[in-house]
Amino acid sequence: MPAQSLDQIVSLCKRRGFIFPGSEIYGGLQGTFDYGPLGVELKNNLKQLWWRHNVYERDDIDGIDSAILMNPLVWRYSGHEETFVDRMVDCRTCQGRFRADKLGEAQCLKHPRLCPGQCEGELTEPRPFNMMFKTQVGPVADEGSFAYLRPETAQGMFVNFRNVLDSTGRKLPFGLAQIGRAFRNEITPRNFLFRVREFEQMEIEYFVRPEEAAACHEQWIQDHFNWWIEEVGLRREHLQLYEVPDEERAHYSVRTVDIFYKYPIGWEELEGIANRTDFDLGSHTRDQEQFQITARVPKNVHSNQRLVYFDQATNRHLIPFVIEPSAGVDRGVLAILCEAYDEETLPNGERRVVLRLKPALAPIKAAVLPLKKNTPEIVAMARAIERDLKRGGDLRVVYDDTAGIGKLYRRQDEIGTPFCITVDFQSLQDRTVTVRDRDTMQQERVAIGALGTYLRERI
Ligand code: ATP
Repeated sequence: MPAQSLDQIVSLCKRRGFIFPGSEIYGGLQGTFDYGPLGVELKNNLKQLWWRHNVYERDDIDGIDSAILMNPLVWRYSGHEETFVDRMVDCRTCQGRFRADKLGEAQCLKHPRLCPGQCEGELTEPRPFNMMFKTQVGPVADEGSFAYLRPETAQGMFVNFRNVLDSTGRKLPFGLAQIGRAFRNEITPRNFLFRVREFEQMEIEYFVRPEEAAACHEQWIQDHFNWWIEEVGLRREHLQLYEVPDEERAHYSVRTVDIFYKYPIGWEELEGIANRTDFDLGSHTRDQEQFQITARVPKNVHSNQRLVYFDQATNRHLIPFVIEPSAGVDRGVLAILCEAYDEETLPNGERRVVLRLKPALAPIKAAVLPLKKNTPEIVAMARAIERDLKRGGDLRVVYDDTAGIGKLYRRQDEIGTPFCITVDFQSLQDRTVTVRDRDTMQQERVAIGALGTYLRERI
């Protein structure tokens, strides 16, 4: 039985050390979460899969890691100062503040069973609220010393367009990939990891000739839709594409298609894939009037560079279009946990929770378990196997002898460990162990010397 509600996932995450509420000992800080020992492994594995697919397995994308703090002019000319807003309403009765377009998802502060507007409370007219966090840079707090915490990683890639071009000599089409933190002062953070104020994004800015942008956009949509299924392991029937209508699209986009996942809270966005046109490179470019920019960009830009590409075929400069696949790491982790969660009753009547994670994503790849912890030879052999498997540095392997074997299996099932290796009396005689498969619970005898290959082949 899959997860019926987000509460089951939240409870498993807390109990087993995947994810904790941020600053919990002081009552928390809304919209923040901390990844625990297992959560950090799962999140890193997801990021690695993404990086491998988008950077290592292609020859047209390079990585970048740009600063979170940027000159505030970046956010002026990117359009975020003016348009990165949600519309907000206040309740004159309970003093709550709510996102105007999500009233149906919010709770009245006085009557939590009701949505704002359904209670006796009187709501104000909607007004814009800018979601960028401000901070102070340097020791003097004055007008000119503020900076924003970036609300998207994308701008770090646009402002480095020339640097990358000059240092790599790339030819169109090519792209940049970045994984990093983004911050949004969401009016109502909610639904666990789904809507938080500090999160990570995995973004690509793919630069193409304007006339190739529409077809290229289509390819990225298909590529990433398939990636979530084939490599991450989300079910096809839990994913759908959503054509974002004009009124919901960001200011820079002529077309955006979202990949929606069927979370226990309903169908919601996991990744957005936008055609950002020449808006961003165009709006950060000096001497704009010399180039044909199709997007309506801010004028009188103060940048000191031309973010343009010299096209040898036509002997002219052009401003490339940009296709941007942008996924949330935390929404990915949440989708993976929801997808993998399963509760089942075994033939002997016992119930187990099992996380059916793809082995490549599992925080722990194998657990080495001695059948008898008071038999020194068995313990020594189990410890030696653990040491040996860890030697390559590519497998997270643990040793556990703190309970009976049945309980140890259940523990590993619940955190998604695909293989349990049990050392028993027979192991002492013939140097074989049992390897138990998490999903089928079938056991197989494998020679100790062949264990490394056995596991790596299956992971
Ligand atoms: P939404 O409409 O749900 O607020 P968005 O369309 O504003 O999302 P984008 O600007 O397209 O989101 O950001 C790209 C990705 O970053 C999203 O697909 C999502 O996975 C992630 N993301 C955006 N906002 C948040 C948030 N507050 N918490 C967690 N992840 C987020």
